[in-house]
Amino acid sequence: MNAERIMAFARAGVAVEVVDVTGSTNADLLARAPQLAAPVLLIAEHQTAGRGRAGRSWLSEPGHSLTFSLAWRFGDGLRALAGLPLAVGVALAETLGRLGQSVQLKWPNDVLKDGDKLAGILVETHVQPDGAAWTIIGIGVNLVMPDALEDRIGRGAASMPWLARMDRDELMAALLDGLADALALFARAGFVPFAARWNVLHAWAGRPVVLLDRGEVRHEGLAAGVDDTGRLLLDTAAGRITIVAGDVSLRTTD
Ligand code: ATP
Repeated sequence: MNAERIMAFARAGVAVEVVDVTGSTNADLLARAPQLAAPVLLIAEHQTAGRGRAGRSWLSEPGHSLTFSLAWRFGDGLRALAGLPLAVGVALAETLGRLGQSVQLKWPNDVLKDGDKLAGILVETHVQPDGAAWTIIGIGVNLVMPDALEDRIGRGAASMPWLARMDRDELMAALLDGLADALALFARAGFVPFAARWNVLHAWAGRPVVLLDRGEVRHEGLAAGVDDTGRLLLDTAAGRITIVAGDVSLRTTD
């Protein structure tokens, strides 16, 4: 991939860097956060130690996926950032939809295609002394899913071979523009304008789910979408409850 071409295709005036190989683009940008002066998009052709939530890993093979992180500064610090990972999911899903690949969202922020995970999102933050926060938004998107990689992942994983044939720099530029638009909107208005958009894309709307915390079932009910702050609405036998995204995992049970 070529940084200059991506910048030329993109509307967003974001600096783009491409490296051949690195452990984790999120780790790299987090380390640089104290010195960053402007947003940066860091793309790795090959990411060898991709991270997921709660110490989980994101696996990829060179040439078969997009692995990148976007560093973006928010003036209001951590308190205002609840819901950001979900807004990023909306941006990613809507951009893929515009490009012809229909996808859905699983709370809080997995992008699914035909029920399997197509893309993962990991948002990490570095809070500055003045209270502002650099967010490092890491994204892995499967383009092609070789059997050997799916075996290593250990569960079904989706890919999008049709979009994989698109010019990768153009695809990356479209994703960058979708993210930059969403992040600018989020900075102005928070998650509120994304809630209905998230619910339209909800993969498991109305379906029975369980909420797992370190493998233990914490709640079960019907998934009813998200509220204006990005909390999951769960209709349980005892009524509707709201769940804050943390290290919990959601599974369907139907
Ligand atoms: P859960 O699915 O339990 O809610 P999560 O959303 O927290 O997990 P992430 O942190 O987003 O998961 O991603 C890590 C998980 O994604 C891994 O534990 C693995 O199961 C799965 N995974 C890793 N690499 C890929 C990949 N390339 N494609 C699809 N799934 C993957």
